[in-house]
Order: sequence, then C-alpha cells, then structure tokens
Amino acid sequence: MGETGGTTWMTVGISVGVSLVTFWGLGGLVHWWFYVHRRADAERWKVQPRRFLSRAMVRHAFALGSFNIVMGAVIGGLFASHVARGGWSTLYSDPLEHGVPWLLASAVATYFVIDAGLYYSHRALHGRWLFRHVHRWHHRYTAPVIFTTTAVHPIEFLVFQAFVMLPVVVVPVHWAVYLLVVAYTYLIGMIDHSGVIVRWPLPLHPGNQFHDDHHVFVHCNYGHHTQVFDRLHGTVRANDRRYADDELGEGARRGPA
Ligand SMILES: [Zn+2]
Ligand SMILES: [Zn+2]
Repeated sequence: MGETGGTTWMTVGISVGVSLVTFWGLGGLVHWWFYVHRRADAERWKVQPRRFLSRAMVRHAFALGSFNIVMGAVIGGLFASHVARGGWSTLYSDPLEHGVPWLLASAVATYFVIDAGLYYSHRALHGRWLFRHVHRWHHRYTAPVIFTTTAVHPIEFLVFQAFVMLPVVVVPVHWAVYLLVVAYTYLIGMIDHSGVIVRWPLPLHPGNQFHDDHHVFVHCNYGHHTQVFDRLHGTVRANDRRYADDELGEGARRGPA
C-alpha cells in the first residue's frame, strides 16, 4: 500500500472510529441512563411516557443504525482524504480567504442548504411509492430512541448524506465551519430521536417534540434543523386535525401535503 493509500485508510478509520464512539458510546450512555436506569420514572422525562419500543425493535434500530453510520463514515472519510489531497470541493482552508464575516454567513448558508435539502427529500420520501418501499423502515419506530437516528433504509441514508454533503459543492465554506454544521446536524438528529424531553433554545427549533410528533402523526413536521420549510408549506402538525392510524399503512395517500 502506498503512502496515499495508507493516509486514506487512516482518515477513513478515524472517521469510522469517531462515528462509532459517538453512536455507541454517547448514544449508549444516554440510552442506558434513561431507558434502563430511569425507566420507572418515564413520566418525568419521556416525550411519550407510555409508549416504549420492544427490545427487539431497539436491537433492530441499533444494528441498522450502526450499519448506516459506518457506511456514512467510510464515505465521509474518503471525501476528507480527497480534500486533504487537494481534490476539488468548495471547502477552503485559510480562514481569512473570504473574510471573517463570511465565516459566520457561510455557517448560516450551510445550515439552511442542509435544512432545505433534508426537508424536500423527506417530503419526497412521504410520496406513496417511496414511503411504502423506503421510508417506512424509519417509521416502524413509533416511539424513537437515540439509535433510530440513523436507522433508515440504506438508500434513504445515502440520500440523507448526499444532502448533508451538498454544501461542499455549492457553498464556499471553511472546512472547520462545515464540520461544525455537520456535527450539529448529527447532534440535533440524536436529540430529536432520543425520546427524552429536550428544550432547545434556538428560534424555530424549540425542542424535540416536533420530530417525535412526526413519528406519531407521520405526514407532518418534516423539517430537520428548523420549522422554516414546514411553516412555508403548511406542513406543521395542526392540533385540530386527526391523523388516522392507517395513514402509516397507506403511505401518503391522505397526508396533508
Ligand atoms: Zn418521515
Ligand atoms: Zn425520525
């Protein structure tokens, strides 16, 4: 193996290692603390205090989620080594190249490019055919736990990753800023799927009930980072609307969107 190949595999190894440490380590710790240690106390911390996934479903989410995160980490690691070798992307490495204000503006741009990509792809996944054959995998988890964050059909995971990586071809962004926004994307996904009540002091993402409700009511609340696109398109869950249980089985046939 040449030096380039060795560096590539080291980058991939680090990427896989970091992903697994967070998913198994951090995720496992949160899961153990609430779902094992404080299980009897669920009324005080759980978004859906009376609904728990079966142990088999938790194991299923853990295995599928782990598979996807390793796949994503390999792709991310390969891309990182491509950039490290001087390969093309819109990432840059001198923090002053586009000025200091752009460091902040590019973070906001990257954030909304990812938010938009995830919203519209999620809406598309609720179309009847895609829902039935692809996205339903994720909706089997009606009371999400942290491991369901990445427990989706592998094709859906690749679509998700493509939109997370979209900024590196459309937004000139410093690599560290990009990495921070990606880390935030990952973190917010884990918080949204933890099933544990978390309030989040950011405008348009006040907490994780919004996405937990997506798992309960299905054809509403598609946004990932914010509610901006749900508000724009009228897909926020309406309190006075009853979402029939069979909508999950029927795909998006009678969804509000
Ligand atoms: Zn969905
Ligand atoms: Zn979800």
